[in-house]
Amino acid sequence: MQKNDLVTVAIEDIGVGGEGIGKVDGYTLFIKDAIIGDVVEAKIVKAKKNYGYARLMNIVTPSENRVEKPACPMARRCGGCQIQEMKYGAQLAFKEGKVRGNLERIGEVPTELLDKVMQPIVGMEEPFHYRNKAQFPIGTDKEGHIITGFYAGRTHSIIPNTDCALGVAVNQKILEIILHFMENNHISAYDEEKHKGLVRHVLIRYGFKTDEIMVCLVINGEKLPHAEKLVDKLCKIPGMTSITISVNKAKTNVIMGNEIKLLWGQTYITDYIGNVKYQISPLSFYQVNPVQTEKLYGLALDYADLNGNETVWDLYCGIGTISLFLAQKAKFVRGVEIVPAAIENAKENAKLNGLENTEFFVGKAEEVLPREYKKNGVYADVIVVDPPRKGCDETLLETMVEMNPDRIVYVSCDSATLARDLKYLCERGYELRKVCPVDQFGMTVHVETVVLLSQQKPDDFLNQL
Ligand code: SAH
Repeated sequence: MQKNDLVTVAIEDIGVGGEGIGKVDGYTLFIKDAIIGDVVEAKIVKAKKNYGYARLMNIVTPSENRVEKPACPMARRCGGCQIQEMKYGAQLAFKEGKVRGNLERIGEVPTELLDKVMQPIVGMEEPFHYRNKAQFPIGTDKEGHIITGFYAGRTHSIIPNTDCALGVAVNQKILEIILHFMENNHISAYDEEKHKGLVRHVLIRYGFKTDEIMVCLVINGEKLPHAEKLVDKLCKIPGMTSITISVNKAKTNVIMGNEIKLLWGQTYITDYIGNVKYQISPLSFYQVNPVQTEKLYGLALDYADLNGNETVWDLYCGIGTISLFLAQKAKFVRGVEIVPAAIENAKENAKLNGLENTEFFVGKAEEVLPREYKKNGVYADVIVVDPPRKGCDETLLETMVEMNPDRIVYVSCDSATLARDLKYLCERGYELRKVCPVDQFGMTVHVETVVLLSQQKPDDFLNQL
């Protein structure tokens, strides 16, 4: 097989990045945008010894799981969505299979046990327009017009699109006002390579429960000229609550600057997950799909099975979303998080909701928990973890096992590291009780999973004899 060869391939599998996988004479090809069940014509773009990458040129026979027309015309070029051409039901089946496959292969969970503990994936009622946050880069096209959109996969070239199918409808109106304002007032877009020009990004946030809207322009300067003209237009949009600028003069990939200046309204919007209220500023971390987050954390709460007497640890607690959810039902909740600003938010949110039975620690979970356990003799009835993709540090798992909580609830955004960590815990006295995948990010390959582990009781051993 050589570069530029044209081949016809039946797609039989899907890779971790959502790409279609098929074979030609035993040679494996990875083809972006092709889905299981398609027969496609593809052109080889990179040929390695045993496998290669090809570009989808033509669909010969479409899969029964292929949608007739993707919701977004930019879906193939944009780096945001990977599997928009797949029907939503097939996306869910793919995600469920991915979690199950990782638990089987990496976690070595026996098939019979998986059949018993796997719950059906929790999908979205509306798999589009679910994101409450969008950060649009601003740039200039070849003709010199100001544009905004999203980056093409693995690049920083902007594909013009003000109507992302994952974002809320009002984004388009806001972006168009900003683009017109910039053109009419000769305000330049930032040029990453030259480190020149003013407007870098537009951050938009929307409170799904409150309908409050935030707009923040990230600029390479201290001041936005004629800001009053922009404010005058934006503030007429129903729900507009916060208009700010963020100063970011650094030559960096980091989007937001640290300084926020108020242009109109207030510096934050308010939103709810369940009954818990949050004040969200341009710099705060907040779950981007609040509808599914409520379901995900609701499951975590359900698995924690609290009756009001428990002491709980929430490790990798972020802004304390899970901690506050749990604090409504537990005796006391302690959260640990590495980012100091997130812990500030967590404390403010606890206060805002009058949840005084909480305490938050800044630091690495793998350092704070052993220290508090060994030095201060803290304990836990239930431990909840929600680590980043790399999963839990082994020192942390070791301490958790030593602390011997009745239940461990593991919330994961990467089922491969989840499987690795479950294997460790299951070899040391814990038993897998429930596994439930939750789709937080339709049209992408990501999937969240909530798992309940509990201590293997002597009774269980007896039952097994
Ligand atoms: N449940 C949280 C989100 C968890 S995302 C919420 O609702 O906000 C994972 C979090 O782990 C991130 O906030 C990240 O900053 C934090 N983190 C990463 N490594 C860490 C470590 N070693 N110790 C503690 N927190 C860590």
